[in-house]
Amino acid sequence: MFIDTHCHIDDEKFSDKDAVYTNLVAKNVIYAINMSCNNKSIDDSVYLAEKYERVYFGAGIHPSDIEELNDEIIDKIIGATKHKKCVAIGEIGLDYHFEPFSREKQVDGFIKQLEIASSVSLPVSIHCRDATGDMLNILKDNKSKIKNGAIMHCFSGSVETARELIKMGVYISFGGTLTFKNAKNLKEVAKDIPNDFILTETDSPYLSPEPYRGRINEPQNVSLITEYLAFLRNTDVNNMATTILNNTCRIMPKLK
Ligand SMILES: [Zn+2]
Repeated sequence: MFIDTHCHIDDEKFSDKDAVYTNLVAKNVIYAINMSCNNKSIDDSVYLAEKYERVYFGAGIHPSDIEELNDEIIDKIIGATKHKKCVAIGEIGLDYHFEPFSREKQVDGFIKQLEIASSVSLPVSIHCRDATGDMLNILKDNKSKIKNGAIMHCFSGSVETARELIKMGVYISFGGTLTFKNAKNLKEVAKDIPNDFILTETDSPYLSPEPYRGRINEPQNVSLITEYLAFLRNTDVNNMATTILNNTCRIMPKLK
């Protein structure tokens, strides 16, 4: 069985969500966690989790939508966490890729959402793009707020960064980029890190793994990522899948 700890089934690129769900069930994906990015996608995530048995969700505001974060939305996120299928705060984090952005607002919004995670005892799913230095500093300064666990989603950093994160207890989640031919450093990370910190995801509809790179990604493709991880770590896919199941259930105890 396979687990997609971070996907966006609510994305409008998925015009036939029933088909996406049927495909993930057929591929033996047992959990697909729909991460919300903004106010609307929190509602959509709740809807999907109530409609589809294997879909769970995270509640949070993405750094690119951080302008939306106000007291009302904070209350809404806290309210959503009471849902039995809300297993994380996410996706949250820092994204310094697209100009213009406000670093100050992103940092402030990120820390506020780490506080929510701590207050409701949930782990966080973290997005980090072109912001590694700030990310590591914030996590170091806010260690107590990630005591319920943190996942670096679609990790793309170096072996050194991965080791620093693991020292803080942060899990490393691998997506389709792991399978890309030019992802040499990432493959080294996947070989280097201890079993207990590995998770899998698709970030679908984005970042399709090989051999589907460039096409619309789906949660069912997490099977390919798990197989590739097993290959890199010299183990068989069932072993790899069991490790990932154990890790996922440890960090997201609301999954059953
Ligand atoms: Zn995402």
